Amino acid sequence: MLLDLAAALSLPGIADRDFHELSKARWQAAAKALGAQLETPQAQRDVQARGVVVGKTDAAARPLRLESLPLLLGAPPPASEGLQLVAFATTLANADPDAPGWLREVPDALSGVSWSSWAELSPATAQRLGVKAGDLLMLRTGDGTAELPLAINPALHEDAVAVPRDAPELRMLGALGRSVRAERTGKTFALPLTGHASQEGRDLARVISSGGELKREHGHEEGGTLASPHEHPKHRWSMSIDLDKCTGCQACVVACYAENNLPVMGAQAAREGRLMAWLRIQRSVEPGPTPEATRIAVLPSLCQHCDAAPCEPVCPVYATYHTPEGLNAQVYNRCIGTRYCANNCPYDARVFNWKDPVFVEPLQMQLNPDVSVRSKGVMEKCTFCVQRIRYAEGAARDEGREVRDGDVTPACVQTCPAQALVFGDAKDPHARVVAQQQDGRAYRLLEEVNTLPAIAYLARRGGQP
Ligand code: SF4
Repeated sequence: MLLDLAAALSLPGIADRDFHELSKARWQAAAKALGAQLETPQAQRDVQARGVVVGKTDAAARPLRLESLPLLLGAPPPASEGLQLVAFATTLANADPDAPGWLREVPDALSGVSWSSWAELSPATAQRLGVKAGDLLMLRTGDGTAELPLAINPALHEDAVAVPRDAPELRMLGALGRSVRAERTGKTFALPLTGHASQEGRDLARVISSGGELKREHGHEEGGTLASPHEHPKHRWSMSIDLDKCTGCQACVVACYAENNLPVMGAQAAREGRLMAWLRIQRSVEPGPTPEATRIAVLPSLCQHCDAAPCEPVCPVYATYHTPEGLNAQVYNRCIGTRYCANNCPYDARVFNWKDPVFVEPLQMQLNPDVSVRSKGVMEKCTFCVQRIRYAEGAARDEGREVRDGDVTPACVQTCPAQALVFGDAKDPHARVVAQQQDGRAYRLLEEVNTLPAIAYLARRGGQP
């Protein structure tokens, strides 16, 4: 990532080097300082594999100084006055006009911005400059100028202006660490912003201290459901989501777009809150007294496949219903688009087709033939990749056996690099998902509304509960 940044900014002496070359040179320098030799390629590989050079040194231990990082990368010394320009990495490419639609549409996990470049300021700095979110900001360095819409980031240092590293505007402003003047232009820009960055005190993304226990003040109320719980004679498909592992990278969200033929809707739809994602990363950025004390949480959010689903009894045409395998299913060609179900879903899991989808080249070539393309006027949402469930059931039947744990892997579960998601049959006592759901950190989202979700979240450890 740092090398990518260096290349984007054409930092002298580092921009043209690849990681292998750079790491080899660093190990050789470290070995030389300790009087060791790394002459053969095997010796170099050994030291890389071990991760240390063994030798003698009389130097006192020196702590890593993070503020030295730009200098290590060859950036000029920090500005002595004014704001300082910093670039940050996003896992998506919202600010890159040449990136594929999926990567521009899925919002940046922390700011919620899609389809645009933007600049970030701390709330205190924005107030000092008399600007607010959505104002166009003029940034000036000795090298150039750029106009960028403003997003407020409570976790940002008051002396910094932060710009995504894939924003073309970054190049106009020159190297990182430059002194930068930020001015109000008096113009505004409707930033394509999605989601709501607060949990509103509802403790959705829960955190426990290391070794601590989950407090369970708002449990499920026995007998408090509107509908009677269902029988699941064979399977009850379920998921667990470990918040200790989830990094908010959104690979799962993009995988869901690809697997389930989700259309890319564009910037205007993002402004109107009409993106079609079945799975989103719900962000929560709760400001503290200092930028460092800002509490940030991410929560993968999708249909909870409730046993007592509030969406089901309100559908006048029975387009949404509970299957014997515990899925909350949606019959598209029965839906008449009243949207009562979406209004009654406490998890905001349902999305409505305001237009017929358009799959811009080359995305029309990758549509999944096992999943229908929905049309204008119908409601849709996560199905736990029911097509993959049916495929695994068919394969097991052909082989004359029962479905085994691990046979069904929804696209999000398959793609998550942190393996934060586990899917399986809650009726199989040996399934991994059952063990996860019995973990002391497991809880259900908004348990107190008595929807009996099929998804259990595992609280993040080691934070301030
Ligand atoms: S669940 Fe996995 S893929 Fe999805 S955002 Fe979290 S870490 Fe990334």
